[in-house]
Amino acid sequence: MHLGSPRLEVGTTSARLSCDVHHSGEMHTWWIATDLDDIGVIDLGPGAFVPVALSLASSLGEDLAIEAPISAQQLHGCRAAAHVLHRQWGWRQPVVSASTERQPFVAGPDVGLLFTRGIDSMATLVASLDGVGPRVTRLIVIDGLEPNHSADVAAAVWHDTQAVAGAVGLPIHRLTTNVRDEIERYIPWKYSHGAVLLGSALALGPLFDEIVISSSNSVRYPRANGSAPDLDACWSTDRTTITHWGVSMSRSDKAALVATRPQLAAQLKVCWESNRRGNCGTCSKCLLAMTAFTVAGAHSVVETAFDGPLSCEAIRRLGPVPSFVREEVIEAIGDDQSDLRDAWRDCLSRERNHQRRGLAGLDPAERFAAVGMTLQPDEAVGWGGGARAIYAGSANRQVVCDAPAHLDRPLRWCLAARATPGSAQLATVLTQHWGHGGVMLTDDVTPGPPPAAVGRLLQQADVRCWWSDHDHLDGICLLEAIEHGCVPVQVMPDDLAETLRAALPRQRPAW
Ligand SMILES: [Zn+2]
Repeated sequence: MHLGSPRLEVGTTSARLSCDVHHSGEMHTWWIATDLDDIGVIDLGPGAFVPVALSLASSLGEDLAIEAPISAQQLHGCRAAAHVLHRQWGWRQPVVSASTERQPFVAGPDVGLLFTRGIDSMATLVASLDGVGPRVTRLIVIDGLEPNHSADVAAAVWHDTQAVAGAVGLPIHRLTTNVRDEIERYIPWKYSHGAVLLGSALALGPLFDEIVISSSNSVRYPRANGSAPDLDACWSTDRTTITHWGVSMSRSDKAALVATRPQLAAQLKVCWESNRRGNCGTCSKCLLAMTAFTVAGAHSVVETAFDGPLSCEAIRRLGPVPSFVREEVIEAIGDDQSDLRDAWRDCLSRERNHQRRGLAGLDPAERFAAVGMTLQPDEAVGWGGGARAIYAGSANRQVVCDAPAHLDRPLRWCLAARATPGSAQLATVLTQHWGHGGVMLTDDVTPGPPPAAVGRLLQQADVRCWWSDHDHLDGICLLEAIEHGCVPVQVMPDDLAETLRAALPRQRPAW
């Protein structure tokens, strides 16, 4: 990879520092732009592009030649960063060739905070205002990085961010860049965001003695990330020290801190999935933040900063969420908010089991783990057809025996299952032959009511029926039915039933 000498292009509203970069056998142009007001404090050297260039060269397995001189500190940092990237992601450590020179400006006295209005950077700002964090004197925004925002929404979001800066009396600097777009084809954002954000901020390096980036992890839950204390520090220059701040705080600590400033808390912006100015209240980022505020007892922030109330059903409907956050979130929820904790556990379990968790809450992976066994995500649970038998365990034997199989329940039958043509047809046939029953069909978009509600449905029915076109007896539906005192009935095509009948154990299973 070859990083060319930057050039400054001045337009009518902004100044753009551009750099030609040759990698992967192609020429690319990277740029970082500032408002014209900041033209006098732009670093005209290549330092702003170095963090991303080093990251990309490492991931591509190319060496890195930097045409224009960089600061000695940054060259040293490049070698340290290559070591960290190799350790974290297994990338090759590139040979970095560059000359060094003293940077022409003495650093300004300022401390810049990379600011997004998310919980992490808002907590750093509040800590600074309280005199317990870095002494922030300016805010830095890398704008336009969010792919889901229309121009109108982006403008409104920027307007709101300026208002926050005005409210706390700090100057704010706005930068835009194409570097995220340029490298996301090669490196996921998760691995590269620290280099993109800090590199862009270094374009205004002559202003700053220190640039602060807020930690999104706490020391209790360390993980490899594109922004981490040891990696971020590598991007420091002779002039500007990079600080990664907030690693000792948990997510709920940060929420509690932000909540002490209600006016700032009302201006949080954590939601980037939807094209809106505020926070939707239903995406994973919103729900994680709302949970953190609820755990911190800051219910008023949930009301003021989000477009809807915190909903356990919305949590259950979530798709994949980052494991590091959800573990931290679930652990922080107290016993007095068990509904919330159960909802996150349901979300987690559904994902871990690839949607195989029982609708009444039976978690097959948990049952196997309880007896020291591991269930692979693609393994079927039950009897026959290569499925693995699931055991209730001796402790659960009593539960099974106690489940009251009275046949005078209000419902003769019930069907609680994921919506498939077979399930819908079975509901129709059962209604025709057995009269009214209880039917609860769910799909991927609406995974369904809380497990406790499905459990109550099972407790009201004599028989639980379900449709299967697999070749085994479904262990999850069966055990859930028995544990709720229902007679289990699996309905399936004749030929499969015939084969299965021959494959089932003749003796009573061990549970
Ligand atoms: Zn949202």
